Amino acid sequence: MTGSDTITLLASGNAGKLKELRAALSDTGLMLQPQSDFDVPEADEDGLTFVENALKKARNASLHTGLPALADDSGLVVPALGGAPGIHSARFSGQGDGQNNIKLLQEMLPFEGDYRKAWFICVLVRVTSATDPTPLIAEGYWHGHIAKEPSGASGFGYDPLFQIDSTGRTAADLNPKEKQALSHRGQAVRTLRHKLEH
Ligand code: IMP
Repeated sequence: MTGSDTITLLASGNAGKLKELRAALSDTGLMLQPQSDFDVPEADEDGLTFVENALKKARNASLHTGLPALADDSGLVVPALGGAPGIHSARFSGQGDGQNNIKLLQEMLPFEGDYRKAWFICVLVRVTSATDPTPLIAEGYWHGHIAKEPSGASGFGYDPLFQIDSTGRTAADLNPKEKQALSHRGQAVRTLRHKLEH
């Protein structure tokens, strides 16, 4: 992978993302360090799309360190809720993952069957500098349903409510390898790796 011998900043403080991205990129030699290690101020996530916010986060991290940066902007999209929580997934309740899940369950109460469909999206953006005119952009999607109750203890965020198949398993019932093989982030990483290698 290009630039594998240098530190690449992860433009995020999300421990769940860092763990998954480090595992998915572990064989590349790429050293992924969280921006919190470098006192990078949070970027304004005021874009209207995942890709805009990912680009802002990557440029911000690179601007404050002079290092290449990788940003992950991701979230859960529920069509029955008009696309919410969407780009506001991390801030849905304003009180963290546990309350986000409680709020989601409450808002989904009126919905049954196909109206409980949802998808995760992950947009990865890698810049070599703050002004990089050719950022690498990779997307991944994961389709499922919102469960009626939480299940599983793996993963992070909305994983306990994201039902992946007809057996009722959720993303939080999967081990890290299984999640990586199926998830929006796993797909985005595979696309990014392809772009870096060609
Ligand atoms: P961001 O840091 O602004 O990109 O917000 C991402 C938010 O989307 C996280 O805080 C989670 O709530 C949610 N999210 C993204 N990816 C996942 C995942 O793989 N599992 C569960 N929740 C996720």
